[in-house]
Amino acid sequence: MGLTVAEKLIAASRVAGKMKPGARIGIRVSQTLTHDVNGVMSYLEFEAIGLKRVKTDLSLSYLDHNILQTDFKNPDDHRYLADIARRIGVICTRPASGICHQLHLERFSRPGKSLLGTDSHTVNAGGVGMLAIGAGGLDVAMAMAGEPFSFPMPAITKVHLTGSLPPFVSAKNVILEILRRITVKGGLGAILEYGGPGIGSLNVTERATICNMGAEVGATTSVFPSDEVTRAWFKAQGRAGDWTPLAADDCAEYDRVIEIDLATLEPLIALPHSPDMVVPIREVAGTPIDQVMFGGCTNSSLQDVLSVAHILGGRNVHDRVDAAIYCGSRQVMLEALQRGAIDRLVRSGVRIMEMFCGACNGTGFAPPTAGRSVQTGPRNFIGRCGNDSAFVYLASPEVAAASALAGVIADPRDLDIQPLPYSVPAAFLIDDSGFVMPDDRPSAAPVRRGPNIPPLPKMEAVPEALQGPVILKLGDHITTDHIVPAGAHYLPIRNNIPELARHAFRVVDGSFPERARQAGEGFIVAGENYGQGSSREQAALVPRYLGIRAVIAKDFARIHLANLANFGLLPFVFTRQEDYDRISQDDSLEADTRELREGKLYTIRNLTRGIDIPVMIPLSQEELDIIKAGGRLNWIRMRATGGTA
Ligand code: SF4
Repeated sequence: MGLTVAEKLIAASRVAGKMKPGARIGIRVSQTLTHDVNGVMSYLEFEAIGLKRVKTDLSLSYLDHNILQTDFKNPDDHRYLADIARRIGVICTRPASGICHQLHLERFSRPGKSLLGTDSHTVNAGGVGMLAIGAGGLDVAMAMAGEPFSFPMPAITKVHLTGSLPPFVSAKNVILEILRRITVKGGLGAILEYGGPGIGSLNVTERATICNMGAEVGATTSVFPSDEVTRAWFKAQGRAGDWTPLAADDCAEYDRVIEIDLATLEPLIALPHSPDMVVPIREVAGTPIDQVMFGGCTNSSLQDVLSVAHILGGRNVHDRVDAAIYCGSRQVMLEALQRGAIDRLVRSGVRIMEMFCGACNGTGFAPPTAGRSVQTGPRNFIGRCGNDSAFVYLASPEVAAASALAGVIADPRDLDIQPLPYSVPAAFLIDDSGFVMPDDRPSAAPVRRGPNIPPLPKMEAVPEALQGPVILKLGDHITTDHIVPAGAHYLPIRNNIPELARHAFRVVDGSFPERARQAGEGFIVAGENYGQGSSREQAALVPRYLGIRAVIAKDFARIHLANLANFGLLPFVFTRQEDYDRISQDDSLEADTRELREGKLYTIRNLTRGIDIPVMIPLSQEELDIIKAGGRLNWIRMRATGGTA
């Protein structure tokens, strides 16, 4: 039987397990990436492992998520990240050199190789035919230490593309269409592999846009073949030698096929507050808006910036609209400057921001109270933009530009202009001055830590029985943004767990931290897809720090499930969905945790109602052993010493 692109990628990196859907496999990780918000934890964990140098082919530390530096906290984080990178062999960027995923795509991605990143949108690099996966910081620290990364072998879904996109319908609409069809959990346990004659009409950054938001359907990753389009793009990046071809075998078989005729797509928009609340633009056209944000790792490529400048054409954005643009990299900014696009954007009244994530995670440029914002980023969860009362819509750069001009949500096809005639340049402007190289060999260079970087919290082993109240009962699709917030106020304390814990579940129930502390030990109950969204491991660590020992849910998002195991929390899954209704907030629960064994059926006793509820734990024996030890770092120490945690 022939192999798919995804199977070839996995086979090339596989060091353990069988490639059967659902079976546990381990891969050797070739490259890692971290960013400043999730990276600090990852490097603290790498230090705790005790190695002097990373063992990957290439590791990058991007300073791109929070560069506001409003006080000492953020610059302290950046200084620590620069110091530790130099010492352990990691390339570190200067702050605001670009968004990690755009920068990595341009300068370091490699078809056929594997990449693990502390960010769910690491999957962006699937656009060049790379096996690119998002993970928690501890998993990335382990990969930097040369340990395999393990995950359940995904099913392979083929997205068969035919035709080509109509005018003013750009790549963002392809992934919005997929979100419309399969929702935020439609890709769980799967890799989306793109193929068909339609892919030839999509350039590399368009492919990356589509892969990027594959994170929003919960897919393990997304991938395109590496073809002549990819080759031309690598040549234009001055990296022709990094290109290798990669294609599915003719007789490759897929677990599922999604057919999309690109020519039939129309401009789409995701309504607040979920990326899968997708409707055709005409259904909401005319809705007044207050703000437009161009940028985010989904749509900050050169083509995106040029398309916005082309549509605005030097005309002023509407008086009611505050508009800003974030270029994805120095290359994008320099190219846009050279072509006069930045000049035109300034004349249109668009604010030119630094090259970082910015408003996408609420780091500045928050909408006003109850304001409506059209954004080109990948997520619109409530409160993520820095204002809980705001309404964020997700759309393509073309829809966002047309809306900025009109002051209302607008269809770019109604504009009296031709679309941007764009083709990938023969040679991009190359500027690698934003990368700081590490020392050649292990050094004793000082690593400076500010007061905002406390030591990692200590975790005890799991006791023989858990008993306590349900501190919080939640519905479906709780995101890691719900669990620990993004935004300019919270990103500077992302690595200060005691401080961050004070804001856990802020947008759901602000009393949670205090009630958890008072209970001392307890449970969270949730519906479907608990922990979707960002890969931030603090969403596991913070509840654990507050005394949560187990989460009982209908099911879990992949990265968060791994993070729960890494920090010693038990992830129980209801075996009967209706049992979710047999537990209420404040009910007192008990679970026997003497023996944690793969495949075992466990019982949660609801002491308040006097009933037993069967549950299981969807983890391997090794992960259960890690939980038993109180988390992966304890487990590593136990393995190293042969003793107890
Ligand atoms: Fe940055 Fe937003 Fe992309 Fe996350 S989703 S990497 S915050 S641009």
